[in-house]
Amino acid sequence: MTVFLAGGTGTPKLLSGAEDVIAPADTTVVGNTGDDVELGGLFVCPDIDTVLYERAEELDRDRWWGIADDPTTTHDEIVRLSAAVDIPATPRYLPDDRQTDGRDIARWRRFSAAGEFMHIGDRDRAVHLLRTSLLDEGRTLTEVTRTLADAFGLLVEVVPMSDDPVATIVHTAAGPMHFQEFWVARGGEPAIESVEFRGSEAAQATATVLEAIREGPVVVGPSNPVTSIGPMLALDGIEAALHETSVVAVSPFVEDKVFSGPARDLMEAVGYEPSTAGVADAYPFADAFVLDDADGTDLDRPVVRTDTTMDDRAAAERVARAVGTALEGI
Ligand code: GDP
Repeated sequence: MTVFLAGGTGTPKLLSGAEDVIAPADTTVVGNTGDDVELGGLFVCPDIDTVLYERAEELDRDRWWGIADDPTTTHDEIVRLSAAVDIPATPRYLPDDRQTDGRDIARWRRFSAAGEFMHIGDRDRAVHLLRTSLLDEGRTLTEVTRTLADAFGLLVEVVPMSDDPVATIVHTAAGPMHFQEFWVARGGEPAIESVEFRGSEAAQATATVLEAIREGPVVVGPSNPVTSIGPMLALDGIEAALHETSVVAVSPFVEDKVFSGPARDLMEAVGYEPSTAGVADAYPFADAFVLDDADGTDLDRPVVRTDTTMDDRAAAERVARAVGTALEGI
């Protein structure tokens, strides 16, 4: 079984071209859940959903989130009604005491849907509704994710990193905020002071995840090392398991240039050089790396180079083949 550690962009892109290199039936995807939020009572798993929708060929590949051509009737009406009573479309956290009651999995990231700051399509919302109801029936997030993956006809296994709450809180010059507020509502603008994975000391990686990693091999896709892979590494046992297994990491940088997203600022804020060299420092357990042809970074571990820009499936397959070569070399 090959295990991919995934956020919501780089690794799902890689998976889109991986199926001829690594059989889907032999693939387990571990999804980051630090980005998850509860919005209007519905539990949303942005990174896992992108993997589900991408693998089901339902993903909106322009935005790289949500379902393609998904109508937004419900969202539009929430925003319209809210605006009519002067409720703006900005994040509205539930009161502090409500952050830690209600569903345990949703702790510290519970938002009102008034003004709905995230753009949720109608079909996408149906997934969140179903997920939340199955959680409320008493199933774990792992079980519910499996059910949703089955409903979408996925061949790969998708599992959350944990069944416990872990909330990625970005501490900024404008105060602490959940990653979704930082990125979706504020476009990554506030200056970052530090990043906290709230709940990670008490949260456990699931036995499924730890066993899968130990058996390996593991591919750390080109995901954000801080907010996509960081929450996993913060869980007891994951980094130790990664040290015991064969790991190939794909850089989300070309030297010090990032393809997309806030990885640069986040790496800098937590004390890593915002570059491929910094990624290698963040991943001491990686046995080999896949870097871009134009990335001359000199690493202390084996490197396979290719064009790592993944604009389409053929490009992703090229990167997946480089991952395969790197794995063979370990
Ligand atoms: P998030 O959950 O949306 O932050 O997504 P991830 O953490 O999975 O991925 C974000 C990272 O993907 C960013 O740091 C990007 O640099 C990287 N990325 C995006 N597109 C590409 C690509 O085509 N090639 C590579 N190598 N990295 C990419």
